[in-house]
Amino acid sequence: MVPGVRLVVLGKQGAGKGTQAVRLSHHYVVPHVSTGDMLRAAVKAQTPLGRRAKALMDRGELLPDELIMEMVGERMAERDVQTRGLVLDGVPRTVNQAKMLDELLSPARLDLVIDLEVPTSQVLRRLAARRVCVDCGTNYSVFAPPLVNWTCDICGGEVVQREDDTEAAISRRLELYERQTAPLLDWYREAGILVPINGTGSPDVVTQRIIRAVDHRKRRQEGS
Ligand code: ADP
Repeated sequence: MVPGVRLVVLGKQGAGKGTQAVRLSHHYVVPHVSTGDMLRAAVKAQTPLGRRAKALMDRGELLPDELIMEMVGERMAERDVQTRGLVLDGVPRTVNQAKMLDELLSPARLDLVIDLEVPTSQVLRRLAARRVCVDCGTNYSVFAPPLVNWTCDICGGEVVQREDDTEAAISRRLELYERQTAPLLDWYREAGILVPINGTGSPDVVTQRIIRAVDHRKRRQEGS
């Protein structure tokens, strides 16, 4: 067996993917690979990829699979991911991306895919309240702001509302989630690695639910 932990966190926009992926990456001491964070960094740095991505992201559209998987593949080729594994956040988002991911991982495989389940009425409330650090991507909300004057507790960056958290872009992202990403759940269920997790409640409670499920599954895999 290839050592390390390889997890995907799936869920609708606002289900808490980013928050939980960061916490899992700390818990299992593996890199957090977030396509949204990578793309937002490219937009900020005004790279050619960033310039191409911005208009699509602002409208809530998906970027082409090949472009995304090339970016993810470059990150996955680095030594930390190769030796320790990773927590993927925001990818895969289509069945095609999932197939490409399997190739990038080979000969290793995903341990588990966590599906954070949160009712749509609740994700809409969370998205309206969501604020994010422009520098490190840490998530906050108007109900749980940073300690000092909308500057990030972690890095001191400015904490703002995301440009794609407009009503129109949110509804487009949720529509694309149902059409393109939801079929992935069946794909991973059939592969026997999907773990549905109740994503409602405090972030701490949700993290504990996930860790319990991952450890349980890993013990079973190691015992088999
Ligand atoms: P959310 O899950 O809230 O929609 P993300 O931060 O994961 O946000 O992604 C923001 C945007 O970046 C997406 O709306 C899309 O335009 C682009 N993006 C991120 N990941 C992918 C991906 N795997 N495939 C295609 N586009 C992506």
